[in-house]
Amino acid sequence: MKYETIIIGGGLSGLLSGIALARAGRKVAIISAGQSALHFSSGSFELIDSEDNPLAAIAQMPSTHPYQTIGLDAVKRYAEAVPALFAEAGVEVSGSVEKNHYRITPIGMAKSAWLTLGDYATLDNATTLPWRKVAIVNFDGYLDFYPKFLDNFFAKRGVDTVHHTLTLAEFEHLRESATEMRATNIARIMTGDLLSKIATELRGRIGDAEVVFMPAVFGMFDAEAVSALRSQVRVPLYFIPTMPASVPGVRTQIQLKNYFQKLGGVYLLGDNVCGGEIRDNKLISVRTANHGDMEFHADNFILASGSFFSHGLIASQEHIYEPIFGLDIVADQARSEWYNQDLYAHQPYMGYGVVTDERLRCRLAGKTVENLYAAGSVLANQNPIAEGTGGGVAITTALFVADQIINA
Ligand SMILES: Cc1cc2nc3c(=O)[nH]c(=O)nc-3n(C[C@H](O)[C@H](O)[C@H](O)COP(=O)(O)OP(=O)(O)OC[C@H]3O[C@@H](n4cnc5c(N)ncnc54)[C@H](O)[C@@H]3O)c2cc1C
Repeated sequence: MKYETIIIGGGLSGLLSGIALARAGRKVAIISAGQSALHFSSGSFELIDSEDNPLAAIAQMPSTHPYQTIGLDAVKRYAEAVPALFAEAGVEVSGSVEKNHYRITPIGMAKSAWLTLGDYATLDNATTLPWRKVAIVNFDGYLDFYPKFLDNFFAKRGVDTVHHTLTLAEFEHLRESATEMRATNIARIMTGDLLSKIATELRGRIGDAEVVFMPAVFGMFDAEAVSALRSQVRVPLYFIPTMPASVPGVRTQIQLKNYFQKLGGVYLLGDNVCGGEIRDNKLISVRTANHGDMEFHADNFILASGSFFSHGLIASQEHIYEPIFGLDIVADQARSEWYNQDLYAHQPYMGYGVVTDERLRCRLAGKTVENLYAAGSVLANQNPIAEGTGGGVAITTALFVADQIINA
């Protein structure tokens, strides 16, 4: 099988580089093993955790950081293009490159963010809120949502809360087992009449609350359930992230995948790229677990296989490696150097990943593989948790490598 570009990994990075290439008329295939970090997403994308201008903070990052590799101008250009690109795929976000906003976490903290999905409330600052009284509404038996933490969040900011629990007959079969009462299972039944019933309950109960917060269990495949419910409630309705899986995150994955396919891209889900042939510093083809001896050929390849979480990197007892090609990586040799005993301290393993040149092309045994690019969390020298850069690196490097291929 022959494509112009083959992308290994269909998470945020793989999908966005695929969309950019397909939009430019390229014949692209994404081969993806399975779930991505989006399935566990907070619903917000982080560019960098900074009180000040995010771009000014990015300018201060170490020269090895992926943002510095692609350059500040590129980060700005790609980051500014994202809301419109997402909108084409039906993903509504708010936020700006110029200034972070805040979002409310499931455990009642205010955390800074660059872009936030339309499901969630965004706050201008972490300390003052625009409401005096809010209603927090949960479903009977749903345990992955924590109203008590939210109570604390609002109380600290001088906002009164009222609580309501909805008991719905439609949930009976889910309530029989605690493992069934999960966000994604609930989201599947949140349609039509049930939404109207919930809206009627909300209208009857919320009294003088200015805004309603509910668990984010609406709209698995598109945002229709969210809009339908909102249109039937007379006050603003926002959602709070639940414990994973993240319904809005899964939806974003589905919407980006659908858009990629609409643009003509081929998405092969549930297959694992397990090796490839590299000749004269060029990747000729890759093999997959499902297709046995059949090779996938392409002019260019993008490695968007994620970090340890998605098996883009593997840690064995003895060493850390990139499992498909055995690419050059940044990683400490001694296991004792991989992590810090203090859970809250900087964790060295977070910065491990593949080494690239300035065009984000991978290296093997010290030599650049001329047509193999890397994007997203598989890249070395970033620390998404400490820096708050996860989504931003995934998105901007994905668009950067797509441009490298388009403009080559
Ligand atoms: C649990 C979790 C939650 C996060 N939440 C947020 C958040 O809320 N906001 C934020 O800004 N950042 C978040 N991050 C940071 C996150 O890394 C980035 O935001 C981003 O989603 C990473 O995208 P990615 O495409 O690089 O990797 P991933 O999302 O990890 O996707 C990699 C994909 O590659 C596939 N794959 C791996 N190996 C192979 C193979 N051999 N063959 C085929 N396919 C393969 C995997 O199955 C997976 O689908 C989170 C990270 C994690 C781990």
